[in-house]
Amino acid sequence: MPASPETLAHADDLADFVAASPSSFHAAAEVARRLSDAGFTPLDERELWSVGPGEKQFVVRDGAILAWVVPEGANPDTPFHIFGAHSDSPAFKLKPKPTTGRAGWLQAGVEIYGGPLLNSWLDRELRLAGRLVLDDGTSVLAATGALLRLPQLAIHLDREANDHLALGKQTQTQPVWGVASTLGDVASADLLAEVAATADVDPARIRGYDLVTADAARGVVFGKDDAFFASGRLDDLASVHAGVVALAQAPLDAPHIAMLAVFDHEEVGSGTRSGAAGPLLEDVLERIQLGLGADREQQLRARAASWCVSSDVGHSVHPNYVEKHDPVVQAVLGSGPILKINANQRYATDAAGAAAWHGWCDAAGVESQEFVSNNAVPCGSTIGPITATRLGIRTVDVGIPILSMHSARELAGTADLVALSRVAAAFFAA
Ligand code: ZN
Repeated sequence: MPASPETLAHADDLADFVAASPSSFHAAAEVARRLSDAGFTPLDERELWSVGPGEKQFVVRDGAILAWVVPEGANPDTPFHIFGAHSDSPAFKLKPKPTTGRAGWLQAGVEIYGGPLLNSWLDRELRLAGRLVLDDGTSVLAATGALLRLPQLAIHLDREANDHLALGKQTQTQPVWGVASTLGDVASADLLAEVAATADVDPARIRGYDLVTADAARGVVFGKDDAFFASGRLDDLASVHAGVVALAQAPLDAPHIAMLAVFDHEEVGSGTRSGAAGPLLEDVLERIQLGLGADREQQLRARAASWCVSSDVGHSVHPNYVEKHDPVVQAVLGSGPILKINANQRYATDAAGAAAWHGWCDAAGVESQEFVSNNAVPCGSTIGPITATRLGIRTVDVGIPILSMHSARELAGTADLVALSRVAAAFFAA
């Protein structure tokens, strides 16, 4: 059956969201922009907060954003329903002294951020995006269009390339972004000036930067019955987008505070100021609860009655590598969001969480699938176990099934995108 207009509209909106979010900083800003349009108010961490019943608010910290809806009937022990996701993706990050080059080429000096599938970044037009911090301390977002590329060596120059493609992590990952006809051209080239120009900033004012690469191509729906959606950064912008769409419609009469928690740095372990292992969520929960007049006892009672749905992408069964998956439990693109289960608690899901998840899926009218690893192929982890461990809040790990995880361009099921958003909406309304 062809995809419904609603399914296609959601995927197209996700393509817009990804295009507006080439870095974690851009993703946080795009979430803020969308929520502002939906009537949410920004708060500054350094100011006194006024939080109370009926408020829709958000706070941005670097590449993270937390946003919430306090219901009209909130009191000091109203619990939270938190939908968690992350804003960062594997990429290349600009090093200091980033303008480099050899043999007449201008290149970018980059480090590897997280665990990208390096070969997937070859032969793609790449953007450079992130934040510039200026001499007066202000932070400015900047993003180029297609500017860089990692060109693959021709097959004629490496006849064994199809047998064993391996990239030197330092020597063969430095993208090109121009050619220089003379040594003087190389000396006067300035990659940061190219980035600064996109933000109307004098490059001499840049004192620091966090800039990463992103695939320049837009997300696209394709395949039989529009089954597939391919895009960069589906891990984890598909979850962030599902959460934003759901939170923008969150009702003011729910028995809990609906919250979207988007963390940075999941791909490098979450142990930062804006990551899930840092104090951000705990601090914001406490400030909301203080705003509602909660004492310590009431805060702890509210947390004990709260839920966190941690949403991150998971693995669809791959038809060419079926042996990598559990022989019985196999999620596939397009058959719904997944509930992630792991005996060693790499995912936070337990029996109570599974039961709660199925209830929210039923309320949304959404079919869900389960994911569990092949015993010989250990799975990754995500933000769920970290937030559960830090705060003691009941947590369930979910997501959408994808192929090509950590590729520059990942593959999702079109129908799963809107389905995840519907479950998030049901979770906020439950
Ligand atoms: Zn992820």
